[in-house]
This record gives sequence, C-alpha cells and structure tokens, in this order.
Amino acid sequence: MIPMVDLKVQYHALKDEIDGGILTALENTQFILGPNVTALEQETAAYLGVKHAIACASGTDALHLALAAAGVGPGDEVITTPFTFIATAEAICDVGATPVFVDIDPKSFNIDPACIEAAITPRTKAVLPVHLFGQPADLRAIAEICTRRGLLLLEDCAQSFGASIDGVMTGAWGLFGCFSFFPSKNLGCYGDGGLITTNDDAMAEQVKMLRNHGSKVRYHHDVIGYNSRLDELQAVILRVKLKHMDAFTAGRRRVAHLYSTLLAGSVLTPPCEDGIGLHVYHQYTTLTARRDAVMEALSKAQIASAIYYPIPLHQQNVFSADCAGLRLPVTEDVAARCLSLPVFPEMTDDQVRQVVEVVKSVC
Ligand SMILES: *Cc1c(COP(=O)(O)O)cnc(C)c1O
Repeated sequence: MIPMVDLKVQYHALKDEIDGGILTALENTQFILGPNVTALEQETAAYLGVKHAIACASGTDALHLALAAAGVGPGDEVITTPFTFIATAEAICDVGATPVFVDIDPKSFNIDPACIEAAITPRTKAVLPVHLFGQPADLRAIAEICTRRGLLLLEDCAQSFGASIDGVMTGAWGLFGCFSFFPSKNLGCYGDGGLITTNDDAMAEQVKMLRNHGSKVRYHHDVIGYNSRLDELQAVILRVKLKHMDAFTAGRRRVAHLYSTLLAGSVLTPPCEDGIGLHVYHQYTTLTARRDAVMEALSKAQIASAIYYPIPLHQQNVFSADCAGLRLPVTEDVAARCLSLPVFPEMTDDQVRQVVEVVKSVC
C-alpha cells in the first residue's frame, strides 16, 4: 500500500521529540498563545526571511485575516486563479469581496500574469496568486503589475512552505503571505493551523488584533475581530518539524526528480519546473489522456492517486451565477487531464519505482 502522503513514518521518525514537547507543554498549561506559539512565530519568520509571522487557526483563516487587515471588502474585486482549493476564493467572499478568476499557465498550472493584466477594472483591489503544488507563481511579473497598477499583492502559500524565487521565500513578496499547517501540507501539524507573514509593522499589529477578538490589551477591544489562534500543542509539533524542513523539501524533490526520469515514455507527462523558482512539490501532478485507466491500475495495485482539482472554481455550483458563460480553456483542459501521484519526504526510491512500474503497464 502506498498512500498519497504517509504521516505515520514521519511521526515515528520524530516521535521522541514530539511526544516530549507535548508532555512539557501539558505541564506548563499555557494553552492559548503560550511560549511555543511565540517561539514558532519567531522561528518561522527567520526561516521565511520576513519581519513578522503571526500564527492563526487555519490556512483559510490566514487568507481571511490578511484580506480583512488589508482592507479588502464589499465592492472590491480580487483577481485569483480558478485552479486551486476552494479556500482561496472562499476567503475573498468571506470579507465581502468578489473573486475574479483568470486563466492559468499550461506548464506551471499557476495564474497567468498576462491574464491578470487583462482582468483589471476600476474595482480591482488585490491580486491573490496561489503557489500551486509548491511551485512559485511568477511573482516578479505579478509584483510588477501590482506596483504599476496600484494593487495589493497577497500570496496563498498554503502549498509552498520553503519554495523561493532567487532565494526569496514565497510569503515574503506580497503585503501578506498566507500559509496552512493542515496535516498533509509541506509543514503540517496534527490538526488545523495557519500562519500569516508580512514585512509591514502596522499590518502585523492589525492581524494580531483580528485573530484575538480585536484586542491588543486584554479586555480592551478596538475592532470586531475573530477567535483564530494556533494552539500551543500544534506549535510544539510545528517547531519540531520546522527543524527538519530543508530535509523534507530535499526528500520531496528527490522523489519528484526520480519520477520525472522514470516516467519518460509513459502515458503521464511529468510536471514542468518552469525555472521561475524552487518547486517544493507539495504535489507531483502530471497530465494524461489516460487518467481513468491509470487510476484504476494504481488502485488495483493498492497505490493511491488523486485529482487536484477535478472542477475548477469558476465551474463550481457556488459560483454558477457569478461565472455563467465564463470560459477558461487552459484551466478546463488541465482539470480534465491532471493526475497527482504519491509524494512525501520519506517515500523511498523503491516505492517510486513501484508506482512507475504500474503506470507503465498502461499504454
Ligand atoms: C490547504 C489550502 C488552503 C486552506 O488551508 P486550511 O488550513 O485547510 O484552511 C488554502 N489554499 C490552498 C491553495 C490550500 O491548498
């Protein structure tokens, strides 16, 4: 059996450290915004090369709090990709703004900067690219557009912890970077968690207030906020894992590169590293005209595979009124042919060979 991601091998490798840290935190009893949350915020800020990192309850909340702090709200349009998890657009709607979906690049699967430019209207307030599957979106081009057209840049980094362009991490380019610590993400905890990064002191203060009931000083409330804090036990787990982050990324890249070598000549077209930045392979996503056949063969061999994402957001029921008649041909083509294979840092070369052998049995 080969799962999409094996969280158990990783836990067993780190068990002593994680269990010990949790027991200490249980004895400390500072469960909300305790010392491990503060330490995690400092350590992730240092790792990501940003001035501020603020932990919160989920990646979805990270997006929501960042958009709210940036002042995005009713009447505003936010340009984003339709080829992503629903949370990206959900957060835009939750602050009362409207997501505007534009097409993607066929090679990287990331938002196409030329399409962003064409979709700007007087109501456009922000651009929200997603670094899909761990490959950085073209932030140089996108940041240039945002600066020239006076738009805010917020990054959805839920899948890209550790990805970078010219040594500058994703999450350090925009006004905000929004990360998820969902268990299967490149840096994941054992529950829900999220992180917001920014280099702007005032925005950092605003986000800290919003995540904690609009309060800077206890029982003094300046704005209507939320209860969106990362809990202390999750912070303990994340601090242990953060120390191994470079090795995790190296493991994912080793697996991906072995797949791409071995899959040559098969019915799966390997993902393209477009050279814009360092791909951290949250997912290893191929294209194929034989998707059903490959999935069936893998399933028979007890090997997982998955479609990320089968229905682009502009074709979801929830957006059917807003997006009626909207055609995004590249996105629709990719959604019809994409297939993701198992990838996780601890996956062995032998496991990769097993997957490829089954794929190659399909012609
Ligand atoms: C996982 C994910 C999110 C949401 O993160 P949660 O922690 O599950 O709320 C947002 N955007 C993308 C692209 C994701 O993959």
